[in-house]
Amino acid sequence: MSRKRDPSLPTPFEIRYAVRRAAELLPEAEKNSLLELLQNQDKVPPVKLLAFFQETPQGREWLQRALYLSGAEQARGYETLPGQPGEIPARSLWKCPRCGFTWRVLRTGRPVPPCPRDGSPLEPVVPKEQNHVG
Ligand SMILES: [Zn+2]
Repeated sequence: MSRKRDPSLPTPFEIRYAVRRAAELLPEAEKNSLLELLQNQDKVPPVKLLAFFQETPQGREWLQRALYLSGAEQARGYETLPGQPGEIPARSLWKCPRCGFTWRVLRTGRPVPPCPRDGSPLEPVVPKEQNHVG
């Protein structure tokens, strides 16, 4: 592990987040043991978490979309944020218009995957304006 970190690769924290969001795609038993593992251990090696999805192609594919940027996904992200050219901003929250699934972009330029439940493109949640407090 002497390589420099490639900023386009997900961090262990980002992998844990994505895996937790993908857990519902697993069969009940696997889902439960994955969530138990995440709950009881703070620093589970990503490879151990990703292994849970070995037998679930849908989960594997979704994690791929959630963790790695493709050119097409970047382009779609740009389109859904009019007036904000460039990368998808960090800490932005995205939501499925059909089922309410949410996804948070943890770092600038990270991917926004489609909804893992119904495949809908997620939409940005615009924070409420707080100009008129009081
Ligand atoms: Zn959905």
